[in-house]
Amino acid sequence: MRTVTGRTDHVVVVGAGLGGLACALHLAGSGRQVTVLEREPVPGGRAGRLALDGYEFDTGPTVLTMPELIAEALDAVGEELSDWLDLTPLDPAYRAYYPDGSTLDVITDTVRMAGEISRVCGPREADGYLRFVDYARELWRLERTDFIDRNLDAPTDLITGNLLRLLTNGAFRRLQTKIDQFFKDPRTRRIFSFQAMYAGLAPQDALAIYAVIAYLDSVAGVSFPRGGIHAVPRALAGAAEKHGVQIRYGTTVTRVETSAGRATAVLTADGERIPADVVVLNPDLPVAYRDLLPPARTRRLTYSPSCVVLHVGSRQAYSQIAHHNIHFGKPWRRTFAEVIRHGQLMSDPSLLVTNPTRTDPSAAPADRQTYYVLAPVPNLDRAPLDWRGGLDRRYADELMRTLEERGYVGFADGVEVLHTVTPADWADAGMAAGTPFAAAHSLFQTGPFRPGNLHRTLSNVVFVGSGTQPGVGVPMVLISGKLAAGRITGGAR
Ligand SMILES: Cc1cc2nc3c(=O)[nH]c(=O)nc-3n(C[C@H](O)[C@H](O)[C@H](O)COP(=O)(O)OP(=O)(O)OC[C@H]3O[C@@H](n4cnc5c(N)ncnc54)[C@H](O)[C@@H]3O)c2cc1C
Repeated sequence: MRTVTGRTDHVVVVGAGLGGLACALHLAGSGRQVTVLEREPVPGGRAGRLALDGYEFDTGPTVLTMPELIAEALDAVGEELSDWLDLTPLDPAYRAYYPDGSTLDVITDTVRMAGEISRVCGPREADGYLRFVDYARELWRLERTDFIDRNLDAPTDLITGNLLRLLTNGAFRRLQTKIDQFFKDPRTRRIFSFQAMYAGLAPQDALAIYAVIAYLDSVAGVSFPRGGIHAVPRALAGAAEKHGVQIRYGTTVTRVETSAGRATAVLTADGERIPADVVVLNPDLPVAYRDLLPPARTRRLTYSPSCVVLHVGSRQAYSQIAHHNIHFGKPWRRTFAEVIRHGQLMSDPSLLVTNPTRTDPSAAPADRQTYYVLAPVPNLDRAPLDWRGGLDRRYADELMRTLEERGYVGFADGVEVLHTVTPADWADAGMAAGTPFAAAHSLFQTGPFRPGNLHRTLSNVVFVGSGTQPGVGVPMVLISGKLAAGRITGGAR
């Protein structure tokens, strides 16, 4: 495994996102002196918190899977997860709503889930589900050690016994083809393949290796921390500071100073120069290359679709919904094609609606609710829509009308607070192509083909976060933190 060269005593981490924080914890655990510089007043980056008129909203991730990876980051400094976070498993993990009016709960317990599938789709479909669980669990086992939780230097690193096992069990076929082998009902086919969208692809285009995402949320389970997902970066930052990491908030880095092929310091917007033996960069990788580093040849990437998020504080409560709700529109292939290929807004939207106050009423004033509505939309590379010219308001109205048609009676009337986030906002926050979901996980942007976490010419610059390996999402960026630290300490595989 390649590592940085030279001294590694003092590491400056730019950014206190989940990736930067996980990296800082692993470095602190191995005795490095670590300074984290974060431009915002709080940690978390995309996993931020928005407070509006007595309501509180998570700004980014809502579906938290694999808490053992949070535990692993805390364990690097000898801390216990249970001392820092109070996690509630969500039951059901999701509730799915289909255009024919039926619903299906996604339950972590496989026996109960088989019963639920049998109730909605019949017993043969439940058998298919049990076979899928075995398949996806095995995929995760094969992928995790050799390809995800590992620093990869070259494509040849992929050649392991597990690669052969993955090839023989169809992991390099298309995800939808593979899912269709287990499921015959269009409803189960959707609920176990829509997760390809998290990887930035349609299930018809993604590889079956991404069935592991469905495994992580549908089978391994979804949790909710007291205080929302933002409690996770707060916990990581608290543990890091307890173990000597200096976190300086409100500090924007404007440039990495370099000399003779090495980073020597970072410069801040306040004109300060902070010397470093190693610099770790957590900002979105293409933006870090563009704004913070000396000009370098970079490759053109294809980005995942973006999203519009509505944060709604409301007087209306809906007893029929769960914490996480997925509302599927009628079309399936067409929805992905519209957003990903044609750069259009969905004509019959599929939406995620999260109702966090269902689990944590303290996020709203008494008798009030919070809703988080996420709609996939094209990124700005695919469709440079004029979100600021009124489209943000029109689209928010359209989404609320759609929700009313799908059973959220009086949704618009109940709104006390509405905050709309669009691709223009993600771009302003420093995310390439106006998407918070980074480069899509197509074959040639995955594993050793994804932008690497070591700078190609600067021998002590390391990247962390969703733009580099292994990829997007809370579990992956936590792993990226460990991998980035491994490049400095030589410690991880
Ligand atoms: C709307 C939305 C929904 C999502 N849903 C889910 C989900 O349900 N489940 C899931 O697992 N994942 C989800 N994700 C993805 C997940 O949130 C991200 O992959 C992950 O949080 C990215 O972490 P990161 O460390 O790579 O980057 P970031 O969180 O972006 O961290 C980068 C940090 O660097 C700081 N920074 C940037 N530039 C500078 C600078 N010049 N100087 C100093 N500091 C700087 C930023 O302020 C930020 O704190 C979602 C994301 C969004 C936005």
